[in-house]
Amino acid sequence: MSLRSSLALLFLCLTALPLVATDIVWPTTMERSDFRTPQDYLQPTISGKTESALFGMVREDGKRFHEGIDIRPAKSNADGEPLDLVLAAMDGQVAYLNTNVNGPYGRYVVLHHAAAEIPVYTLYAHLAKIAPSLKPAQPVRRGTAIGLMGHTSAGASPITKERSHLHFEVGLILSTGFNRWYAAQPENKQSPNLHGLYNGQNLIGMDPMLILGQPKVDVLAALRSQPTALTVGLRTNQLPDFVHRYPVLARGEISRAAGWYVEFSWQGMPIRWTALEATSPQLPAGRWRLLEIDQAQRKRLIQRKMLGTDGRTPGELLTQNLEVLLSTTR
Ligand SMILES: [Zn+2]
Repeated sequence: MSLRSSLALLFLCLTALPLVATDIVWPTTMERSDFRTPQDYLQPTISGKTESALFGMVREDGKRFHEGIDIRPAKSNADGEPLDLVLAAMDGQVAYLNTNVNGPYGRYVVLHHAAAEIPVYTLYAHLAKIAPSLKPAQPVRRGTAIGLMGHTSAGASPITKERSHLHFEVGLILSTGFNRWYAAQPENKQSPNLHGLYNGQNLIGMDPMLILGQPKVDVLAALRSQPTALTVGLRTNQLPDFVHRYPVLARGEISRAAGWYVEFSWQGMPIRWTALEATSPQLPAGRWRLLEIDQAQRKRLIQRKMLGTDGRTPGELLTQNLEVLLSTTR
């Protein structure tokens, strides 16, 4: 083989392999080799529709968002209670344990994965039991059993034992100032924040199937594979806490930023941040302004309340996420 073809081959090998990758495992003890179709691992809602177990506007004819995937049990005891263990998907650290059944997630665990290409959280909900040895801040290896699959929930409609599943989420934390923001909202007076920063409103998920199902994953590349659905101009000369925690999502002259051009995915994740100079035409007069909308994603943006029903003005969720993001500039 000539030097040139050897070099070409080497180049091909290097570009074909991800240069960075995080080891990842399926988050339950189900045998992956048993998967033939999505029905083999998904637990649909009572509608029976497979897609209702997936991520997206998959419920109530597209009106209700599901922020994770629902994984069914492979084994049950004589009473029909699941025997599947729930496993840490990646190496990480325990961020939050909720041992009480006091909200829609029921008993749940949140892990933080600081060593991934971007430090994402993963969330494991509706657990029957949380492993008693698990403590906040404890390091956890991928594949470690963190609980037992169940059907715990204190949501509007209980989950029956027949619909036992692991609700699995992966995503980013909007703001470390969330607790202060939450307490300042008049509508929250009657409902205290039971989960602090790990309240679902402060967690913004992406499709778990972007990372699951392979032995290694580039979590950042998976996150970046989400297309921009709308863009917003923000005015702030202080660094948003989100950018401080996820600097890999930001580009431009950060130290001189007078504001930010923020690209959101359809479900409300601020995935790309570009620093704006004081003279930028994208810099709004007020705190923030909706700039562009991908018309191909308009319907889903309206369903998700990222846009108002007119499809032109900011929706409730976009407004809330921006207020939360701006609640902690530093
Ligand atoms: Zn779910």
